[in-house]
Amino acid sequence: MAERPYIVGNWKMNGTRAMLSEARAIDRASQRYMKVEVALAPPFTLIHAVGREVEQIGVGAQDCHAEPDGAHTGDISATMALDAGAKFVILGHSERRENHDESDALIAKKMAAAFDAGLRVILCCGESAETREAGRAEEFVLGQLRASLPELTDPQQQLTVAYEPIWAIGTGKVPTAGDITAMHGAIRGVLKERYGADNAEAIRILYGGSVKADNAREILDLPDVDGALVGGASLTAENFLGIVLAA
Ligand code: PGA
Repeated sequence: MAERPYIVGNWKMNGTRAMLSEARAIDRASQRYMKVEVALAPPFTLIHAVGREVEQIGVGAQDCHAEPDGAHTGDISATMALDAGAKFVILGHSERRENHDESDALIAKKMAAAFDAGLRVILCCGESAETREAGRAEEFVLGQLRASLPELTDPQQQLTVAYEPIWAIGTGKVPTAGDITAMHGAIRGVLKERYGADNAEAIRILYGGSVKADNAREILDLPDVDGALVGGASLTAENFLGIVLAA
Protein backbone atom coordinates (compact mmCIF):
# COMPACT_ATOMS: atom_id res chain seq x y z
CA MET A 1 0.00 0.00 0.00
CA ALA A 2 1.11 3.58 -0.64
CA GLU A 3 2.65 5.49 2.23
CA ARG A 4 -0.54 7.53 2.41
CA PRO A 5 -3.52 5.47 1.25
CA TYR A 6 -6.24 7.35 -0.60
CA ILE A 7 -9.89 6.62 0.23
CA VAL A 8 -12.36 8.36 -2.07
CA GLY A 9 -16.15 8.34 -1.75
CA ASN A 10 -18.15 8.62 -4.97
CA TRP A 11 -21.68 9.72 -4.10
CA LYS A 12 -22.86 9.25 -7.71
CA MET A 13 -26.38 10.66 -8.23
CA ASN A 14 -27.11 10.73 -4.51
CA GLY A 15 -27.28 13.58 -2.08
CA THR A 16 -29.15 16.75 -1.30
CA ARG A 17 -28.22 19.34 1.28
CA ALA A 18 -29.60 16.96 3.91
CA MET A 19 -26.41 14.92 3.37
CA LEU A 20 -24.05 17.75 4.29
CA SER A 21 -24.05 16.49 7.87
CA GLU A 22 -22.52 13.21 6.64
CA ALA A 23 -19.74 15.12 4.88
CA ARG A 24 -19.09 17.11 8.03
CA ALA A 25 -18.97 13.97 10.18
CA ILE A 26 -16.57 12.29 7.70
CA ASP A 27 -14.35 15.36 7.74
CA ARG A 28 -14.24 15.73 11.51
CA ALA A 29 -13.44 12.06 12.10
CA SER A 30 -10.85 12.01 9.28
CA GLN A 31 -8.87 14.67 11.13
CA ARG A 32 -7.92 11.90 13.55
CA TYR A 33 -6.54 9.69 10.75
CA MET A 34 -4.08 12.01 9.05
CA LYS A 35 -2.09 9.12 7.61
CA VAL A 36 -5.01 8.43 5.27
CA GLU A 37 -5.96 10.87 2.50
CA VAL A 38 -9.75 11.05 2.41
CA ALA A 39 -11.91 12.67 -0.28
CA LEU A 40 -15.51 12.87 -1.43
CA ALA A 41 -16.94 13.36 -4.91
CA PRO A 42 -20.49 14.62 -4.37
CA PRO A 43 -22.78 15.53 -7.28
CA PHE A 44 -22.01 18.91 -8.91
CA THR A 45 -24.88 20.53 -7.02
CA LEU A 46 -23.18 19.86 -3.69
CA ILE A 47 -19.51 20.53 -4.48
CA HIS A 48 -19.60 24.09 -3.23
CA ALA A 49 -21.63 23.28 -0.13
CA VAL A 50 -19.50 20.25 0.81
CA GLY A 51 -16.38 22.37 0.31
CA ARG A 52 -17.70 24.84 2.86
CA GLU A 53 -18.46 22.10 5.38
CA VAL A 54 -15.08 20.39 5.37
CA GLU A 55 -11.59 21.41 6.47
CA GLN A 56 -9.46 18.34 6.06
CA ILE A 57 -10.78 16.09 3.32
CA GLY A 58 -10.59 16.65 -0.43
CA VAL A 59 -13.60 17.47 -2.60
CA GLY A 60 -13.92 16.52 -6.25
CA ALA A 61 -16.30 16.15 -9.18
CA GLN A 62 -17.58 12.97 -10.85
CA ASP A 63 -17.16 14.14 -14.44
CA CYS A 64 -16.42 17.19 -16.56
CA HIS A 65 -16.95 18.20 -20.18
CA ALA A 66 -14.10 17.92 -22.69
CA GLU A 67 -14.47 21.56 -23.82
CA PRO A 68 -13.50 24.53 -21.66
CA ASP A 69 -16.78 26.41 -22.30
CA GLY A 70 -19.46 26.97 -24.90
CA ALA A 71 -22.89 25.88 -26.06
CA HIS A 72 -23.29 22.60 -24.14
CA THR A 73 -26.59 22.82 -22.32
CA GLY A 74 -26.57 21.00 -19.03
CA ASP A 75 -22.84 20.27 -19.03
CA ILE A 76 -20.18 21.37 -16.56
CA SER A 77 -16.59 22.24 -17.55
CA ALA A 78 -13.47 21.41 -15.57
CA THR A 79 -12.98 25.11 -14.81
CA MET A 80 -16.52 25.35 -13.46
CA ALA A 81 -15.95 22.32 -11.22
CA LEU A 82 -12.70 23.87 -10.00
CA ASP A 83 -14.44 27.18 -9.38
CA ALA A 84 -17.09 25.39 -7.32
CA GLY A 85 -14.34 23.95 -5.10
CA ALA A 86 -13.33 20.67 -6.74
CA LYS A 87 -9.66 19.73 -6.59
CA PHE A 88 -9.98 16.54 -8.64
CA VAL A 89 -12.35 14.86 -11.05
CA ILE A 90 -13.27 11.20 -11.55
CA LEU A 91 -13.14 10.37 -15.28
CA GLY A 92 -14.00 7.24 -17.22
CA HIS A 93 -16.26 5.69 -14.61
CA SER A 94 -17.99 2.66 -16.15
CA GLU A 95 -21.41 4.24 -15.52
CA ARG A 96 -20.36 7.19 -17.70
CA ARG A 97 -18.83 4.90 -20.32
CA GLU A 98 -22.07 2.87 -20.44
CA ASN A 99 -24.81 5.44 -19.88
CA HIS A 100 -23.22 8.22 -21.93
CA ASP A 101 -21.29 6.20 -24.50
CA GLU A 102 -17.97 7.64 -23.39
CA SER A 103 -15.06 6.32 -25.46
CA ASP A 104 -11.40 6.17 -24.48
CA ALA A 105 -10.79 9.00 -26.94
CA LEU A 106 -13.39 11.23 -25.27
CA ILE A 107 -12.00 10.38 -21.84
CA ALA A 108 -8.53 11.37 -23.06
CA LYS A 109 -9.95 14.74 -24.13
CA LYS A 110 -11.67 15.19 -20.78
CA MET A 111 -8.41 14.40 -19.01
CA ALA A 112 -6.63 17.06 -21.03
CA ALA A 113 -9.38 19.57 -20.15
CA ALA A 114 -9.14 18.66 -16.47
CA PHE A 115 -5.34 19.04 -16.38
CA ASP A 116 -5.55 22.34 -18.28
CA ALA A 117 -7.94 23.62 -15.63
CA GLY A 118 -5.65 22.45 -12.80
CA LEU A 119 -7.68 19.49 -11.53
CA ARG A 120 -6.17 16.16 -10.52
CA VAL A 121 -7.74 13.13 -12.20
CA ILE A 122 -8.89 9.74 -10.94
CA LEU A 123 -9.05 7.67 -14.12
CA CYS A 124 -11.31 4.61 -13.87
CA CYS A 125 -10.91 1.41 -15.82
CA GLY A 126 -12.45 -2.04 -15.53
CA GLU A 127 -13.81 -4.99 -17.47
CA SER A 128 -17.30 -6.51 -17.77
CA ALA A 129 -18.15 -10.00 -16.52
CA GLU A 130 -18.18 -11.31 -20.10
CA THR A 131 -14.72 -9.93 -20.79
CA ARG A 132 -13.36 -11.53 -17.62
CA GLU A 133 -15.02 -14.86 -18.40
CA ALA A 134 -13.47 -14.74 -21.85
CA GLY A 135 -10.05 -14.40 -20.20
CA ARG A 136 -9.50 -10.95 -21.70
CA ALA A 137 -9.77 -8.76 -18.58
CA GLU A 138 -6.15 -7.66 -18.45
CA GLU A 139 -5.84 -7.00 -22.16
CA PHE A 140 -9.07 -4.95 -22.04
CA VAL A 141 -8.16 -2.83 -19.01
CA LEU A 142 -4.62 -2.15 -20.19
CA GLY A 143 -6.07 -1.19 -23.57
CA GLN A 144 -8.37 1.35 -21.89
CA LEU A 145 -5.39 2.87 -20.11
CA ARG A 146 -3.06 2.95 -23.11
CA ALA A 147 -5.79 4.70 -25.11
CA SER A 148 -6.40 7.47 -22.60
CA LEU A 149 -3.26 8.14 -20.55
CA PRO A 150 -1.83 11.50 -21.64
CA GLU A 151 1.64 13.01 -21.41
CA LEU A 152 1.91 14.60 -17.97
CA THR A 153 4.24 17.17 -16.47
CA ASP A 154 3.84 15.87 -12.91
CA PRO A 155 2.22 12.42 -13.06
CA GLN A 156 2.62 11.67 -9.35
CA GLN A 157 0.57 14.72 -8.39
CA GLN A 158 -1.84 14.76 -11.29
CA LEU A 159 -2.95 11.17 -11.70
CA THR A 160 -4.62 8.37 -9.74
CA VAL A 161 -5.92 5.22 -11.42
CA ALA A 162 -8.94 3.28 -10.13
CA TYR A 163 -9.46 -0.33 -11.16
CA GLU A 164 -13.18 -1.07 -10.94
CA PRO A 165 -14.43 -4.31 -12.48
CA ILE A 166 -17.94 -3.46 -13.72
CA TRP A 167 -19.39 -6.68 -12.35
CA ALA A 168 -18.18 -5.79 -8.85
CA ILE A 169 -19.78 -2.34 -8.71
CA GLY A 170 -22.76 -2.26 -6.38
CA THR A 171 -23.15 -6.04 -6.53
CA GLY A 172 -21.43 -7.26 -3.36
CA LYS A 173 -19.09 -9.32 -5.59
CA VAL A 174 -15.35 -8.78 -5.28
CA PRO A 175 -12.57 -10.34 -7.39
CA THR A 176 -10.22 -12.79 -5.70
CA ALA A 177 -7.15 -11.40 -3.98
CA GLY A 178 -5.05 -12.97 -6.74
CA ASP A 179 -7.06 -11.28 -9.50
CA ILE A 180 -6.86 -7.85 -7.85
CA THR A 181 -3.12 -8.23 -7.28
CA ALA A 182 -2.49 -9.37 -10.86
CA MET A 183 -4.52 -6.52 -12.38
CA HIS A 184 -2.97 -3.83 -10.17
CA GLY A 185 0.49 -5.14 -11.00
CA ALA A 186 -0.30 -5.05 -14.71
CA ILE A 187 -1.64 -1.48 -14.39
CA ARG A 188 1.57 -0.49 -12.59
CA GLY A 189 3.44 -1.94 -15.57
CA VAL A 190 1.57 0.33 -18.01
CA LEU A 191 2.25 3.35 -15.78
CA LYS A 192 5.94 2.40 -15.83
CA GLU A 193 5.97 2.24 -19.64
CA ARG A 194 4.30 5.60 -19.83
CA TYR A 195 5.83 7.63 -17.01
CA GLY A 196 8.96 5.74 -15.91
CA ALA A 197 9.57 3.59 -12.84
CA ASP A 198 9.75 6.32 -10.17
CA ASN A 199 6.53 7.97 -11.23
CA ALA A 200 4.78 4.63 -11.65
CA GLU A 201 5.62 3.62 -8.08
CA ALA A 202 4.23 6.87 -6.71
CA ILE A 203 0.97 7.01 -8.71
CA ARG A 204 -1.75 5.54 -6.55
CA ILE A 205 -3.86 2.69 -7.90
CA LEU A 206 -7.21 2.39 -6.13
CA TYR A 207 -9.48 -0.62 -6.13
CA GLY A 208 -13.24 -0.01 -6.46
CA GLY A 209 -16.27 -2.29 -6.47
CA SER A 210 -18.23 -3.33 -3.37
CA VAL A 211 -15.62 -2.11 -0.89
CA LYS A 212 -17.15 -2.18 2.61
CA ALA A 213 -15.82 -1.80 6.14
CA ASP A 214 -15.67 -5.57 6.53
CA ASN A 215 -13.61 -6.33 3.39
CA ALA A 216 -11.55 -3.12 3.20
CA ARG A 217 -8.61 -4.27 5.30
CA GLU A 218 -8.10 -7.42 3.27
CA ILE A 219 -8.26 -5.54 -0.06
CA LEU A 220 -6.09 -2.63 1.07
CA ASP A 221 -3.40 -5.02 2.29
CA LEU A 222 -2.88 -6.44 -1.21
CA PRO A 223 0.28 -5.49 -3.14
CA ASP A 224 -0.15 -2.50 -5.46
CA VAL A 225 -3.48 -1.48 -3.87
CA ASP A 226 -3.02 2.10 -2.68
CA GLY A 227 -6.55 2.94 -1.65
CA ALA A 228 -10.20 2.53 -2.56
CA LEU A 229 -12.90 4.21 -4.61
CA VAL A 230 -16.12 3.64 -2.71
CA GLY A 231 -19.68 4.07 -3.96
CA GLY A 232 -22.56 2.76 -1.83
CA ALA A 233 -20.58 2.59 1.41
CA SER A 234 -19.56 6.26 1.15
CA LEU A 235 -23.10 7.57 1.59
CA THR A 236 -23.10 7.48 5.37
CA ALA A 237 -20.32 8.63 7.66
CA GLU A 238 -20.61 5.46 9.70
CA ASN A 239 -20.01 3.10 6.76
CA PHE A 240 -17.37 5.26 5.09
CA LEU A 241 -15.39 5.84 8.26
CA GLY A 242 -15.26 2.08 8.79
CA ILE A 243 -13.26 1.91 5.55
CA VAL A 244 -11.05 4.88 6.48
CA LEU A 245 -10.28 3.18 9.77
CA ALA A 246 -9.36 -0.07 7.98
CA ALA A 247 -6.83 1.89 5.89
P1 PGA B 1 -19.70 0.51 -5.07
O1 PGA B 1 -19.29 1.51 -6.26
O2 PGA B 1 -18.74 0.77 -3.93
O3 PGA B 1 -21.11 0.91 -4.71
O4 PGA B 1 -19.59 -0.87 -5.59
C1 PGA B 1 -17.96 1.77 -6.57
C2 PGA B 1 -17.87 2.78 -7.68
O5 PGA B 1 -18.63 2.68 -8.65
O6 PGA B 1 -17.03 3.71 -7.63
